[in-house]
Amino acid sequence: MEPQSPNQTTPENFLEEDVHIENRELRFNVREIFSNLWNLDWSKVSWGFVIFCVFLHICFPYGVYLALFSAQWKTLGFALMLLVMGELGVTMGVHRLWAHCSFKATFPLRAVLVLFQTISLQSHIYEWTINHRVHHKYCETDADPHNAKRGLFFSHMGWLMYEKHPEFISKMHCIDMKDIENDCLVMWQKKHYLSLALLVSFIIPTLVPWLCWGEHLLNAVMVPVFLRCIVLYHITWSVNSLAHWIGGKPYEKNIYPSQNAVVAFFTLGEGWHNYHHVFPWDYKTSEFGGFTNINFTTLIIKLCSKVGLAYDLKTVAPEVIEKRARRTGDGTYKGPSK
Ligand SMILES: [Zn+2]
Ligand SMILES: [Zn+2]
Repeated sequence: MEPQSPNQTTPENFLEEDVHIENRELRFNVREIFSNLWNLDWSKVSWGFVIFCVFLHICFPYGVYLALFSAQWKTLGFALMLLVMGELGVTMGVHRLWAHCSFKATFPLRAVLVLFQTISLQSHIYEWTINHRVHHKYCETDADPHNAKRGLFFSHMGWLMYEKHPEFISKMHCIDMKDIENDCLVMWQKKHYLSLALLVSFIIPTLVPWLCWGEHLLNAVMVPVFLRCIVLYHITWSVNSLAHWIGGKPYEKNIYPSQNAVVAFFTLGEGWHNYHHVFPWDYKTSEFGGFTNINFTTLIIKLCSKVGLAYDLKTVAPEVIEKRARRTGDGTYKGPSK
C-alpha cells in the first residue's frame, strides 16, 4: 500500500453548533463536596469497581517500593513497555482510530491495537467508543459520561464508580455504531473481553518476568500488573479531568476542554484537548503533532502510514484552524508554526 499524505477535510456531518458554547465558571467548594457526599444515593455506587480501585491504590505505594528497591531492571523495562503498549492502545487505537475514525488501519495494525487496548484494561473498544462519542456530542451536559461540571473527582474517576445518568442512557442509543459493529476484530474482542483481558493484562505480564528471567513472583505481580495498571489509569483519566480543567483555550474559549502540556506529555499527545474538541476528526488531536506538541502517538501514526499500515489520515487546513481561533479563541493563539 502506498504511503499517503493526510487529507485536510471537514466531515460533512460536523456542525460547530455541536460544540456547546456557554460561559462557565470553575468552582472548588468544600461544603458542596460534603453536601454531595451526604446526598449521594449509595445504592447507585458500582461497588465492584470501587473495591478494585481501593485495592489498586493500596498496592500502589508497595508497588513503587518494590520497583525502586527490589525488582530487576528487566522487570521495570517490561512494565514500562506494557504501559506504553496500553497507552497506544488507548490513544492511537480506541481514541483516534475507532472512536473518531481519524485514520484507517490495515488488519494487522488493527489486530495489534486490539491487543494493546486490551492490555490497558479500560473496558472493550465498543463500550469505550460509545462513551467517548457521547462525551464529544453532549460535552458537559448530563449525557456526558464524565461531565466535568460534576467536579474534578467525578470527571477523573468518580464516573466509573457510579450508575450512569439517565440522560446518558437515552443518548447512547442514538449514537451511530455501525462502523464499529462492522469491524470483526472489535466485535471479537467484545465477545471474549473478560478472558482476553485476564490473559494479556494479568496472566502473561506476571508469567513473563517470573519464568523468563527468574523475577520474584511478588515483584512480577506488583510491578508489571498492579503498578502499571493504576499508573495507566490515572494517566488516561487525566484527559477527562485535568485537560477539562486547566490550560489555555486558543481555539474555543467557551468550553471546558483546555490545552494541557503536562497531560499531553504523559498521554503521548492527548492533552491538547481544546483543539481536539473543536476539530475531533484530526488524527493528530492537536494542531502540530510530533515533537512540537509532545505528540508521540502522532509520530507512530505517521510512521505506520509511511510503511502502509495506516492510511486516509484526516487533518485540518491551517487557514481553517487560524480562522476559527481568531473568531472564538481566548486570544492566546500564536498562529501556525512554519
Ligand atoms: Zn474531552
Ligand atoms: Zn476524543
